[in-house]
Amino acid sequence: MRAAPLPYGAIWGTVRWPEGTDLPRDELRQRYRRADRMAGVLPIGRTEAGGPELAAVFWSLPRDGHADWLARPLADWREEAEALWPAIAPFVAQVEDHGQMTMARYAHGTLWRPWSEGVIHLGDAWHRTSPQLGQGANMALLDAHALCLALRAGPAEEAGRRMLNARRLHVLAYQGMSRLFTPQYQSDSRLLPWLRDRVLMPLSRVPPLPPVLGALVRGGVVPPLLAGLSDGRPGGAAVEPREPREA
Ligand SMILES: Cc1cc2nc3c(=O)[nH]c(=O)nc-3n(C[C@H](O)[C@H](O)[C@H](O)COP(=O)(O)OP(=O)(O)OC[C@H]3O[C@@H](n4cnc5c(N)ncnc54)[C@H](O)[C@@H]3O)c2cc1C
Repeated sequence: MRAAPLPYGAIWGTVRWPEGTDLPRDELRQRYRRADRMAGVLPIGRTEAGGPELAAVFWSLPRDGHADWLARPLADWREEAEALWPAIAPFVAQVEDHGQMTMARYAHGTLWRPWSEGVIHLGDAWHRTSPQLGQGANMALLDAHALCLALRAGPAEEAGRRMLNARRLHVLAYQGMSRLFTPQYQSDSRLLPWLRDRVLMPLSRVPPLPPVLGALVRGGVVPPLLAGLSDGRPGGAAVEPREPREA
């Protein structure tokens, strides 16, 4: 696989959930200017019982824009972020060192044959994408589940192919949708964010689209498992799981 780099990535950091913010503790919030500026706050809970509540804060940057951001005084960046979205002020105020933010660069790519002798590729190692649809973790878990069922369903040497056959449609569908939707959120296009805000956003509230979009972000617009490899839940033909075999 040759992964295609995407033109935008983002810097990400973890800060404490600030007192006095009106942002909800159970929703991702993002604010855009066209598709070339974006600030986001994602509640991420606690890393330990009794510890402070945390938030991931992120800021879209062109793929090659990190060096410029590092060279820029943090106060300038905070001012720009606050001008775009005043509610982000108490989050970015906690970023006092450039090293608190890590640059993530994104790429699209899929292995057509995710296995070779003695190796099976799952998750991002099989199919990588931008995080715009928020499906990467789900996809990796579904791959692991499919592999588990594939190993129980027959000879181990054919498990990679069975896993691929079961997951192929879902992986292709989400890779395709990610390619389609990402430029609306991270690109230099002026037309796509206009369509996003003026056409797609109003349409997204008109029946029957809300449940369709709900299914999209739950990973459910196509069955997650096919080809007779299923745990019997909706979306694929049931197969009786077998006890794990001795290696
Ligand atoms: C900035 C960002 C935001 C994202 N937001 C979301 C989101 O909101 N929702 C969502 O579902 N997904 C999101 N994703 C995608 C999601 O994180 C990935 O799709 C998911 O983690 C893939 O899981 P994985 O197990 O395939 O790989 P990883 O989670 O990357 O796990 C691979 C592991 O292998 C380890 N490793 C690597 N090389 C070696 C080695 N040689 N030896 C031993 N260990 C090794 C790594 O340290 C890592 O722990 C986001 C990704 C990024 C970068």
